[in-house]
Amino acid sequence: MKPEKVTSGCAPGLLNSGYLMHADLEHLIELQDVDAAIARLNAEIATFPKRVAAIETKLNRAKAQVEQVKAATKAGEQAKRGYESEIQTQQQKISKYKDQSLNVKTNAEYKALLQEVNFAEDAIKGLEDKILELMMDADTKKDELKAVELELKAETAEIEHEKEQARQVTARDEAELKTIHARRDELRKVISPDTLQHYERVLKFRGSGIAVEKNGMCMGCRVYLRPQVIQHVHTNNEIVFCDQCQRILYSEPPAIAPPSEASA
Ligand SMILES: [Zn+2]
Repeated sequence: MKPEKVTSGCAPGLLNSGYLMHADLEHLIELQDVDAAIARLNAEIATFPKRVAAIETKLNRAKAQVEQVKAATKAGEQAKRGYESEIQTQQQKISKYKDQSLNVKTNAEYKALLQEVNFAEDAIKGLEDKILELMMDADTKKDELKAVELELKAETAEIEHEKEQARQVTARDEAELKTIHARRDELRKVISPDTLQHYERVLKFRGSGIAVEKNGMCMGCRVYLRPQVIQHVHTNNEIVFCDQCQRILYSEPPAIAPPSEASA
């Protein structure tokens, strides 16, 4: 089976080494680079909203934490006020019992009142312990609030920084994309239509439309090429397709050995 060939009418280009390459090949290699650059820039632009969203999630978590600690502090204060008013109630009871004790007739009545006073005093002690506990808890909450507020501040700064960076990089990438798209349009205009059509068809199915040949292998599909195909590819002066993957093949320009080493 002979390799498929399409020879375009384009004038061959001249590489730096003075080595002649088919103009379409040169342009396709550049087109591939241009397409890769476009993909890279688009991917870079796309990462920023994701990064900002990730930090925003963290930021919202810190905000929620601040609110949670504030709410818990408020609840603690409310509970403390409740206990304090309960202490007042108990104290009022005690003074009422003490007043009543002045007018009791029997020892049993007196004892009963004394017991009530003891109950109320115990209740007050219990409430005071609870208040103390709440006060200690409030101190912990104060520190906790300071920590989460600090975290929130840091995350707010980070998100602003990230957004600013996103704005700058996106603006730079978009300017670069504009230039690259213009170059892409130029390249597509100068490549012969048949070659371009083939390149794009293979690109669509395989992710790339052109591949380099190395050591007799198509680096696009990693399949060894037939000697006859390799021979054509090595000229870099005709459009040759890989039998296996249909990518357009080219060969790296051969390294020109200095004359002193040519004897080997
Ligand atoms: Zn191939």
